[in-house]
Amino acid sequence: MTSEKFTVEKVLSIQRWTDNLFSFTMTRPAHFKFSAGQFARIGIMVDGELIVRAYSLVSSPYDEVLEFFSIVVPDGAFTSRLQHLKVDDELYLEKIPYGFLTLARFQQPAPQDLWLLATGTGLAPFLSMLQDFDTWKNYQQIFLVYSVRTAAELAYVDKIQDIHASFGENTPDFHFIPVITRDSNAILHERLPVLIQNGQLEKIAGHAFNLETTHIMLCGNPQMVDDTKEALKQRGLVMNRRGVGNIAVENYW
Ligand code: NAP
Repeated sequence: MTSEKFTVEKVLSIQRWTDNLFSFTMTRPAHFKFSAGQFARIGIMVDGELIVRAYSLVSSPYDEVLEFFSIVVPDGAFTSRLQHLKVDDELYLEKIPYGFLTLARFQQPAPQDLWLLATGTGLAPFLSMLQDFDTWKNYQQIFLVYSVRTAAELAYVDKIQDIHASFGENTPDFHFIPVITRDSNAILHERLPVLIQNGQLEKIAGHAFNLETTHIMLCGNPQMVDDTKEALKQRGLVMNRRGVGNIAVENYW
């Protein structure tokens, strides 16, 4: 059963961001194709039983390896083991990817301004999208908004700058907007729904949400997703259904 659904892959590298945040890469089998924004199902064998969890891909669809971004869930059966991962350890990878948080789902309005709003490890699918050349080709403005509790949790900042430098040559209008909610000295430190309601997010971006042009994706804390969705609806934006509409979301747990 396991060998029909999963392949066994090898851990290639591990990067620790904080005590409870880390990233890892693993080998990518040739058959494993995915779109930016999708997730994989990864398994670890514990006492002869396979425990499986969903993980968004950080890597681009064109990378040779697969990268993932993880939090250690206190007492979590999976991540409390995963955090002790070492190079050369084996992980199971389900053969097919999943998920609909992809830019292809937006048919109407046509691509113009793209807002990617993440909390915590919800950043992962957006990193994949930003490493896909089509994203830069299709949009005129891209706003990446990344909310974390403390500055130490702002993972991938250097990579975001590198991605912009290498992909965004002809797209000058890229804005990386960090939000640090437990640091009152941070330029933006309120939660995303509040920043939308009080207009601060659009002010700092220098751009307003627009029913006719805006695509907006939310990923991360489920309560953030719900509350932010409501704040955006109050601004006149609508959920994307069957390709039409502004807002697409993914809960992370
Ligand atoms: P988090 O609590 O999700 O916080 C990350 C950011 O989201 C912070 O800026 C936080 O602001 C903000 N936020 C939280 N609730 C919000 C809301 N309702 N509206 C708007 N913004 C909101 O922190 P995390 O470290 O990413 O995750 C925390 C816990 O979630 C973990 O310890 C773990 O137990 C669980 N988790 C589980 C999984 C899983 O797969 N099971 C995955 C990820 C996380 P504030 O500082 O104001 O709270």
